[in-house]
Amino acid sequence: MKTETYKYQVVQNFIDGKFNINQFNTLEVHSPLDGSLLSSVPISDKASLDKAVKAAKTALVDWSAATVKERVAIFYAYRNLLIENLDRLSNLICEENGKTYGEAKAEVEKSIELTEFACSMPQMVGEEVLEVSRGVECRIERRPVGVVASITPFNFPSMVPHWSIPNALVLGNTMIVKPSEKVPLSLVEIAKLLKQAGLPDGVFNIVNGDKAIVEAICDHPDIHAISFVGSTHVAKSVYIRGTSNLKRVLALGGAKNHLIVLPDAHLEMTASNVLASVTGCAGQRCMAASAMVAVGNSDPVIDKICEEARKMIPGQNLGAVISKEAKERIEKYITEAEEQGAKVLVDGRNAKVKDKENGSYVGPTIIDGVTPDMAIAKEEVFGPVLAILRSNNLKEALNIENSNPYGNAASVFTQNGAAARQMIDKASAGMIGINIGVPVPREPFSFGGWNESKFGALDITGKSSIEFWTQLKKVTTKWNPEAGVNWMS
Ligand code: NAD
Repeated sequence: MKTETYKYQVVQNFIDGKFNINQFNTLEVHSPLDGSLLSSVPISDKASLDKAVKAAKTALVDWSAATVKERVAIFYAYRNLLIENLDRLSNLICEENGKTYGEAKAEVEKSIELTEFACSMPQMVGEEVLEVSRGVECRIERRPVGVVASITPFNFPSMVPHWSIPNALVLGNTMIVKPSEKVPLSLVEIAKLLKQAGLPDGVFNIVNGDKAIVEAICDHPDIHAISFVGSTHVAKSVYIRGTSNLKRVLALGGAKNHLIVLPDAHLEMTASNVLASVTGCAGQRCMAASAMVAVGNSDPVIDKICEEARKMIPGQNLGAVISKEAKERIEKYITEAEEQGAKVLVDGRNAKVKDKENGSYVGPTIIDGVTPDMAIAKEEVFGPVLAILRSNNLKEALNIENSNPYGNAASVFTQNGAAARQMIDKASAGMIGINIGVPVPREPFSFGGWNESKFGALDITGKSSIEFWTQLKKVTTKWNPEAGVNWMS
């Protein structure tokens, strides 16, 4: 093991409050910023998952018996630790994921906000009680689901795990998280901070690995619920495998988000929102704008987007994409579209950053004249690339949006309220933006798409997550025999 050449310690599983050193096969973790070797991550076996589940099952006894206020107290402390460690965590995210410092900092700030929502749980989960018949009372008690798991993608090493960790734990579950093997380092720091905040051993565990561990999670008889976030084909397989093993599963998949620009759209605001949506996190957001449908004459907006895009500098205000393979895949989409007759207005292929020759960069790319049959119009590209399609009116634009199989987000840019209403009513997506390029609902509203962007009922954050991470116990009580005999007796 060439530990000495790694910048960070080798990643280990975190089970029952301890980092476990085991001799597994490992994968190297490289920084997309410059290709440097950061660490290695274990490809764990099923026995490690069994150990983690056993620890979580043991911890569940006391953790689920604690009051929600007792559990929240630990998350207040954890929230403060996130604030204290904001800069360190942000730098780590930059290194392992490749995003800019500002984007990484925003991700940690969002993790703090998600933790704050979990801290408000005592105010959110008050019980319901009603005298349903003379002397007979019904009440609802919320109980944890049990040992649960969360499987996360590479694009948000901290925020996406925080979609599930604080809420699931505050609601009394114990948990196993399987992070992306491409970005396993942030979760190690999260585990340390949770422990420092006072989280009892076994409540939170990490098992690293790849497909085999994900399948083992779906099959494990003692795991009762799974949240998954990643690409659509894996989300589908996790949903099918997990539910066929009778688990509760919520699996969020990929996206192809459409922004519709009407001729009356505000020029500067639209151009800057569209471009930020395309290029933020190097286009590797499930909420990123990927296709823009320009209605009528929207050329001034397109010109402005191009003008601003040309000012962006990879390695400065545009981060890296996750790997060399991702860069090749993204550039192939651009070349194919060009070969099929689309016009590349701003070309981000072959982007290079001085002294970071081994980094994986794609510059902002704007392509006009894309037609709905092209792969770049239909598939998730996951890079800083905007495909522009043209349409004559909003109805035609909505037909284009509706015909894509995904349904995470869709936005319209207009000054016309009736057009905005039509967008809300007719777009086939779970999250709609009106003059907003990245319409992420903030808590207490919940996050989740439609169609091929999400499998399973409910959403992953906000109030909806309370339903996912709990089950209801309905209690019917009668204490006073003098209340008489009625149909409830
Ligand atoms: P991915 O599907 O490759 O990986 C996600 C997780 O699944 C990782 O932990 C990975 O180890 C595991 N995995 C990969 N292949 C697997 C397989 N064949 N069987 C079982 N498990 C497997 O996704 P990614 O590339 O890490 O992340 C990018 C994708 O995630 C994009 O499609 C993006 O749109 C999506 N995403 C969606 C949302 C959302 O809210 N809908 C949010 C973030 C990311």
